[in-house]
Parts: sequence; structure tokens; C-alpha cells
Amino acid sequence: MHAMVARSIGMPLVFEQRADPLPGRGEVRIRVEACGVCRTDLHLIDGELPQARLPVVPGHEIVGIVDMAGEGAVTPAVGERVGVSWLGRSCGHCDYCHNGFENLCDAPQFTGCTRDGGYASHVIADAAFCLPLPATVWPDAAAAAPLLCAGIIGWRALVAAGDGVRIGLYGFGAAAHILIQVACWQGRQVYAFTRPGDLATQAFARTLGAVWAGDSTSQPPQALDAAIIFAAVGALVPLALAAVRKGGRVVCGGIHMSDIPSFPYRLLWEERQLVSVANLTRADGHAFLHTAARAGVATRVQRYPLTEANAALADLRHGRLQGAAVLRVP
Ligand SMILES: [Zn+2]
Ligand SMILES: [Zn+2]
Repeated sequence: MHAMVARSIGMPLVFEQRADPLPGRGEVRIRVEACGVCRTDLHLIDGELPQARLPVVPGHEIVGIVDMAGEGAVTPAVGERVGVSWLGRSCGHCDYCHNGFENLCDAPQFTGCTRDGGYASHVIADAAFCLPLPATVWPDAAAAAPLLCAGIIGWRALVAAGDGVRIGLYGFGAAAHILIQVACWQGRQVYAFTRPGDLATQAFARTLGAVWAGDSTSQPPQALDAAIIFAAVGALVPLALAAVRKGGRVVCGGIHMSDIPSFPYRLLWEERQLVSVANLTRADGHAFLHTAARAGVATRVQRYPLTEANAALADLRHGRLQGAAVLRVP
């Protein structure tokens, strides 16, 4: 097998040839077709994820075909197309796992962070944490890849935002460009906030159905029922709180964020809520993939060969993408 490996913090990924991995008990081996590039991969490389175990193969938006099954792994079967997401495994016996919050498991494994991920020709996955991604529904592996993190964690954030009609999305990258399609399909109105002056992304948001798009520093024409912050920028928290109505909710959807500046209590007053979402559950994955198929979600992806992973990460870091970056494995 071959892989792009994060060996040390702050350094480019390194191409490595390795012996083909073998699946253990309850695991499958997947021949990777495509793997999405997520902002979390930048946080990993930048040393902002204390849970990361380097060296590691990044990548947690994996689409591929099961090509070998370990002992006891029946489903998915060899030959089946699957997706692997950020939640690589949960312990199954902590209080959180028992109560439907495996996303908060006390002893989790995270794909491409604490176990090797999909920036590779092959990856080993826990069979119980593979999601069905049939080619009959999602024929293009690269187009399906961003659904597995941007889509599923974005979905968890949208559910956490509640049932309000007017939803603000701060940071219009991979997650927002998927979520806006789901939210519009649900009959909601989406307000898109971008970096100040990023008119191209604001126009992109309008083509996907945003009723309003503007700078993150500006206020929307109407108070929002809820806002989701996907950008890793803590300064957006008081701005989003100022944009939601009384009783409105602000959801932080990222794994890492710069410090939140202090802000006057009146922004939180009147029962506004500030919450975060962390990771995902398998139930989130099934619910989102089902919804995305019904809503006819179409992702916009920029494709790179696996060996160009560093270029893809640089383009993501510098905001040179509309939609999502995806590595293709020949
Ligand atoms: Zn657990
Ligand atoms: Zn991710």
C-alpha cells in the first residue's frame, strides 16, 4: 500500500510505501477510491488536536470498496462500497455509549487522528463503523466523500440548531455548501456569512439557494432563529449571538476554534443559547445519508491525486476552494 503520512507537527505530509495491512477481528480492509480533505486535517497537522497520535495517515472522509474481511466481520461484505467517517470506533460500554452519545465516548478512536485514515490506497476500518454508500445512489466516489464529515457533522449541527426557519451559516466551505442544500429542501431560509469581501463565495451561496449572503461582520436584514458557525474563528461567536433573535441558538460546529473574545452579557441575555457539537454518531451518519439522498444533495469538489495532498491542504488553508477538496486514489 501507499499513503501520505503526517510524521511531525507543522511539516508537509510524506509519501510512504508500506506492507499491505491486514484486518483484525471485526475489521475490514478497504481499497480507497477517494478521501475528502477536511479542515480538521489542518488542525491535526498544525498540532491543535491534543488527541492526535503522530505519525498517522490523515483522512476521515473515506469512500472505498471492502476488499478483505477479518475474522467475524460479516457486514459489510467483500465487494461492498462503504464510507468511513471520523468516528472510527467507540468503546460501547461507557455511560455516553450506553445513552446514545457515542460521539462523546470516553475511549473513542478517530479515523485519521488516533488510527490511520484514508490518505492512502488502503485503510483498515472497524466493520461496525462503516456506513453503506452504494454506488447506485452515489456513483461518484469523490463527490460522495465530503458527505462523510462535512455532511454528517454539519447535519448534527443543523439538528442541534433546532427547527427554526431562518438559519445563518458562518463560514461557507465544505460543510455549509452541503447543509444549505438540505436546509433549503426542508423549506428553511439560509443566510450565508463569508470572510469580509469574499464576493465569489457569497455568489456561490446564492446559487445554492441562500436568500441573503454577506460579510460575517455585517448583520442580516432579519434576526435569525439560529446560526451555525463552521469557521474556526472565535470572533464570530459574539457576531452570531448578535444576529439571532430572543431565544435563538448559536451552534459551534468545528473541532477547534480560536479564542472567543469577551462580549457584553446582553448578547446572551433573553434566553439566547450557545452550544457546540462534537464528533458524530453512527445514527447521525445513517440519518444524514438518507436525507442527503432524498434531498438530491450535489457536492462541488476539487479533485487532486493522492500524492498532491499537500497542495490540497494548502488550497484549503488559503481559502482557494469553493466546495470541498478530495483526494482521488487511482
Ligand atoms: Zn464509550
Ligand atoms: Zn472532518
